[in-house]
Amino acid sequence: MPASSEPNFLWSILTMKCPRCRRGPMFNNSNPWKLKKVFDMPKHCKECGQPFELEVGFWYGTGYVSYALSVALSVASFVAWFVLIGMSTNDNRFFWWLGFNVVLLIVMQPWIMRLSRVIYLYFFVKYDHNYKSTGVKKFDYETGSYYEGEAPE
Ligand SMILES: [Zn+2]
Repeated sequence: MPASSEPNFLWSILTMKCPRCRRGPMFNNSNPWKLKKVFDMPKHCKECGQPFELEVGFWYGTGYVSYALSVALSVASFVAWFVLIGMSTNDNRFFWWLGFNVVLLIVMQPWIMRLSRVIYLYFFVKYDHNYKSTGVKKFDYETGSYYEGEAPE
């Protein structure tokens, strides 16, 4: 297989694919607004066998990522509002934006929470071109470090 077959990094994040093979989906249902299934993830990647929850409580650190994503989304909505609707100190348009932004953040929350998990896992698991023959990334509780586990069947 030529190197060009490596799936695009950003696209893989946006489509929430496994970081190791960038092919297997990280969530069982692609719609994050089915709230009961927002964190419904397979234990392992269906494509390469990579476990997603690397250790117990692994997703704890995603709070920082979702905070950063919420800030980024607010900045983007502020800029869009500024360009499309405008802001002035003489009227309430700024406060309308504030209200709009709160609603936007609430509506986008399931998507933000999922994307945070995806981005967080991408920090720990890198793309592996030979994912079919190499071992998956695992966490060793004894030493508190990551190691390469057995290759999947
Ligand atoms: Zn995978």
